[in-house]
Amino acid sequence: MNPFLLLVLIFLTLAWVLDLVLENRNLSCLSSAIPDAFTDVLDAKAYARSQDYTRVRSRFSMVKGTFEYLLVVMFISLGGIGLLDGWVRSLGFSPLVVGLVYFGILGLASDLLSIPFDLYLTFSLEERFGFNTTTMRTFWSDRLKGYALTMVLGGVLLGVVLWLFMRTDHQAWIWCWGCTTLFMITIHYGAPRFILPLFNDFTPLKEGELRDAVTQFAERVGFRLAGIVVMDGSRRSSKSNAFFTGFGSRKQIALFDTLIERRTVRELVAILAHEVGHYKCKHIIKGLIMGIAKTGVVFWLMAQVMGARELSAAFGVEVPSVHTGLVIFALLYTPLSLVLGPVSNFFSRKHEWEADRFAALHIDDPEDLVTALKKLAADNLSNLTPHPWYVALRYSHPPVVERIRAIRRLARAGGFHEAP
Ligand SMILES: [Zn+2]
Repeated sequence: MNPFLLLVLIFLTLAWVLDLVLENRNLSCLSSAIPDAFTDVLDAKAYARSQDYTRVRSRFSMVKGTFEYLLVVMFISLGGIGLLDGWVRSLGFSPLVVGLVYFGILGLASDLLSIPFDLYLTFSLEERFGFNTTTMRTFWSDRLKGYALTMVLGGVLLGVVLWLFMRTDHQAWIWCWGCTTLFMITIHYGAPRFILPLFNDFTPLKEGELRDAVTQFAERVGFRLAGIVVMDGSRRSSKSNAFFTGFGSRKQIALFDTLIERRTVRELVAILAHEVGHYKCKHIIKGLIMGIAKTGVVFWLMAQVMGARELSAAFGVEVPSVHTGLVIFALLYTPLSLVLGPVSNFFSRKHEWEADRFAALHIDDPEDLVTALKKLAADNLSNLTPHPWYVALRYSHPPVVERIRAIRRLARAGGFHEAP
């Protein structure tokens, strides 16, 4: 077997095994003792239910991961990359169109294969735990809107990248980086106004106690807020959340309607304070800069791989081209993503600590944030005792029990200490 092909198969297998090991380690941490901080919001029955949910979700992800692993291994071992290329070429389009059609077929095939899993996840698994509120109509219309968006936005970006790699030799990666950066910034700033409203309704928060309390808090910490909007999250799930939309003078906070229903005004202010903390600590802009830097590295690596003819031959590609080069690069990217994923999760968790710290220091009583986090975790059936490896590699947020401990420690000391 070709050494390049063998190497890719080994990496894919390692990634798959790591996944199974992590999931199983994580499940081994489930114990029937309710963590101290949660004894007032969870009884034994509710806690057992949250653990059941963790088990079922974990098994689902292992089955799905195994299916995807086997599919990819089969596709590349049987020379699928080259066979598909030969077929698309035989249609007689120009090289750019061949590239777009090639990716279109791969993308559509992988999406169609994921539909049974998504249907099961939404209408069976989530339904069983009382989370699902999606109707079949919403499910399919989301899917169709997703296709349209991918075709328009993804098609344009892919077309530009393919064209640049075809036209410019050594500097292609710099041009691609520049164009992608422009694209990312446009999406970042344009999504709240043009993309999110395609999927959800956003309505201004009604006048009343909550709006007054939030406005008052924002003024106190010197945060200019264009508005507070309510998102109809209940259209898809009973799980709840809050997030930022917009930027500069147009920045808004979006609250899920499901969140407002079940929290006191003080708890909601605490949650908003955490979101304001992200903004005040410049996490949003830092995240964008990190994303741009990462894109630069990826394009540079891509340029190194693209030219290698032996590589194309290893995957059964007779005529090396930009689009097959991109797919082969995506496969070689597996080991790198195993490293980059945990690094970005590390920074994300660091940002969560900082936002908690900001909130705890600026709300009247840090215990409001603790209660809000506890109810959020209980309602969403969060795993309260994840394995440390699992947290290190997969979690974008610190485990809720540790967050509560850190907030209480800060409240006692009157100043924040290092996160545990
Ligand atoms: Zn956060």
